[in-house]
Amino acid sequence: MSRSEIKDLKRAVVKIGTNVLTTPDNRLDTSLIEHLVEQICYLIKKMGKEIIIVTSGAISSGMQILGWKKKPKQINKLQAAASVGQSRLMRVYERVFREEGLNVGQILLTRDIFSIPERRKNVQKTLFTLLKYNIVPIINENDSVAVDEIKFGDNDTLSAFTTELVNADILILLSDVDGLYDRDPKLNKKIKMIYEVKKIGKKIIEIGEKGAPSDNGVGGMKTKIEAAKYVTEKGKCCIIANGKTPWILQRIFKGERIGTFFHPSGEEKDGVEK
Ligand code: GLU
Repeated sequence: MSRSEIKDLKRAVVKIGTNVLTTPDNRLDTSLIEHLVEQICYLIKKMGKEIIIVTSGAISSGMQILGWKKKPKQINKLQAAASVGQSRLMRVYERVFREEGLNVGQILLTRDIFSIPERRKNVQKTLFTLLKYNIVPIINENDSVAVDEIKFGDNDTLSAFTTELVNADILILLSDVDGLYDRDPKLNKKIKMIYEVKKIGKKIIEIGEKGAPSDNGVGGMKTKIEAAKYVTEKGKCCIIANGKTPWILQRIFKGERIGTFFHPSGEEKDGVEK
């Protein structure tokens, strides 16, 4: 598959990471959210795409409201921050989408939902219904209730599972790095970006494992590569790109050589209705 074919893809999951949504001093970057929403609305309204958002940023924006400068270690405090921040986050999305004439629907998920067939099917139906009525689904992990056994812990994995659940054609992971580098960009100067990955083998996995975890987000490059592997093996494609780059989503859909493009590697199709 070539990048020029991306424009023909109908359904996309866009994962927006904490580091994209927040400023260096840990505030929710509403103007950046406005710009991302503007792009998403263009894709939906002008290009007829279906977009499902997986958003991070709940804990971070909760910390901002509560005046907590450092990310707490205690689970109860993290869950309290997520509870405060999730509603603030949704308020921002809801306002900005409404200004563009679109409604949003919030869905908070935990890992167990994906393994219990009845619950999985139910969430899937809800998501398809939202899309049918032109409502933009905005998903996050249900951080304020998730305990270890039912937790994803990072939204890269959640977005990969979501891509499969809604049978999306592409997973777009927006982070604060331009893509996958052959070495860690935060530690090395002489680095090269990898633009195309045909198959995720040992070498790519190793690069991911060496990548630094992000400061306020959870995953880092390791979970992004794992997410890319998960979806590409199911016949979907994936892009890791910088969510702070102006018009990044339009540029991806135009087929520009931007971000790291992971080609579908598997034949598996799950046959879910569209
Ligand atoms: N679910 C977390 C939040 O909204 C973020 C997880 C992640 O950064 O991957 O704060």
